[in-house]
Amino acid sequence: MADTVKLTCAACGQANRVPMARLAAGPKCGVCGAALADGHVAELDAAAHDKATRGDDLPLLVDYWAPWCGPCRMMAPEFAKAAKTLAPSVRLAKLNTEDHPAVSARAGIRGIPALILYHRGREVARLAGARPAADIVQFVQSHLGAA
Ligand code: ZN
Repeated sequence: MADTVKLTCAACGQANRVPMARLAAGPKCGVCGAALADGHVAELDAAAHDKATRGDDLPLLVDYWAPWCGPCRMMAPEFAKAAKTLAPSVRLAKLNTEDHPAVSARAGIRGIPALILYHRGREVARLAGARPAADIVQFVQSHLGAA
């Protein structure tokens, strides 16, 4: 594995290079100071979404959701729990499909919530529907284990 990983800051879109050894120590964005991999679920805008899904070295799981979607809101705490479990080697983020319909159309999202796992610029797998944290963790681990 490489000594450093490229991580897009969800807050400002800056690409950061983070030494693998420092990943667990709460690395912060060199530009805006936002935490890069502390297990919180970052809210992506369109630009950060595209940069992170195309260029990040760490696996990224994106939750495509909308505020009006009941199952999405129900899943949010489960998704947050999964983010803490999978940190810092996998990052979890969400994309509001109501605010960014072009992004969700490009991703081929037909129903929400929908989860897409990205790694090194490629889509690895997707999972539809609201899931408990354990299922989300299992989904990620099964696909990364096989990669
Ligand atoms: Zn930043």
